[in-house]
Amino acid sequence: HARRLEGIDKNIWVEFTQLAADYKAVNLGQGFPDFSPPSFIQEAFCNALTGGFRMHQYTRAFGHPNLVKILAKFFSRIVGREIDPMEDILVSVGAYQALFCTFQALVDEGDEVIIVEPFFDCYQPMVMMAGGMPVYVPLKPREGRGPALTSADWVLSPEELASKFTSRTKAIVINTPNNPLGKVYQWEELQVIADLCIKHDVICISDEVYEWLTYDGAKHVKIASLPGMWERTVTIGSAGKTFSATGWKVGWAIGSGHIMKHLKTVHQNSVYHCATAAQEAISVGFQREYDVFGTEDSYFHQLPITLHEKRKRLADCLKSVGLKPILPQGGYFMIADISNINVDLNDPTTKEEPYDYRFVKWLIKEKGLATIPVSAFYSPEHRDQFQKYIRFCFVKEDSTLQAAENILKQWS
Ligand code: PMP
Ligand code: GLN
Repeated sequence: HARRLEGIDKNIWVEFTQLAADYKAVNLGQGFPDFSPPSFIQEAFCNALTGGFRMHQYTRAFGHPNLVKILAKFFSRIVGREIDPMEDILVSVGAYQALFCTFQALVDEGDEVIIVEPFFDCYQPMVMMAGGMPVYVPLKPREGRGPALTSADWVLSPEELASKFTSRTKAIVINTPNNPLGKVYQWEELQVIADLCIKHDVICISDEVYEWLTYDGAKHVKIASLPGMWERTVTIGSAGKTFSATGWKVGWAIGSGHIMKHLKTVHQNSVYHCATAAQEAISVGFQREYDVFGTEDSYFHQLPITLHEKRKRLADCLKSVGLKPILPQGGYFMIADISNINVDLNDPTTKEEPYDYRFVKWLIKEKGLATIPVSAFYSPEHRDQFQKYIRFCFVKEDSTLQAAENILKQWS
């Protein structure tokens, strides 16, 4: 095999999704809704499929025209500047491929890319496949303030962050709301990052796939909207997360045309474009959301309200069984400290693995509940320090959350 694949053959989603299926576990692991997308978007997909031959054939390489037009219109209003549908947007096969195109297009052999831990796991292999060197900087629980209770208590040290920027730094990757922690970066925190990007002429890759999902008044801020940042930011989004349709695999990257043209080069020479009918349906969904934006009819308004309830329910349940959840400000995951739980992990097949991996495997195999080990969201260098958390996904039917609750209450 090619050298670029060295050390990246393991994948937590492949491993733990299979394990959850093998044991028919109640699944609070992989992040996907176990309910249907809103009916307006399902109808849009059906209409696209029955609307004539065009929806079954190729469309524009960099994004179906109807979709890039409405994405530009929608996000121009949010970013506060005119976004050009043809120049500034690339539609991709999920946020995954938008990220892949970004790293391939911008990172050269030997370039350093700063990644904030904990991070969505694919950033590391993607940087490495581009020949880059990941450099890690951790979010840490604030010191001297008692135990961290919410994701807002986890912060970057501005000094530590600054120390990671060198003459070789090409880009920094941030994720807000963050997976797995649920941190939503405040404006002031983004300003610190922006100042460093501008000072060192570094690109910011901002993964915002959970942008609509914030709770308790936390506000999602786009770093691209800060002064001087539009020109150096690639913002990543996902229709799968936006409309609860992760299997449709439609995502996008938005940024200044002078950067986006390089992402397009990767895209046109690899996948060319993603499914036309799915793009058409998402365009109809965004047009609808544009028309009802800020009203109670908006799905972007309704979904976080639904999830707010589920988040509380899961947090209460975890606390009642002696786990210590960190309440997320955004996204649909919650991490919890498992160090209070005493279990006998005597499975010899997992002996060499980190504690959280062993715990999660035990929970799947012995108790029928699937979650994800949080050390998977850390670099090999720092993994050892973060083996006491597991991640729960709460974008699930109440009946699924109830089933999980029943399992947790039985053994603890
Ligand atoms: N970024 C983050 C932070 C994610 O959690 C995910 C997984 N849903 C992705 C990107 C990939 O998104 P998509 O399913 O649209 O490829
Ligand atoms: N993003 C999803 C999660 O964090 C799953 C990604 C995947 O399955 N590859 O759970």
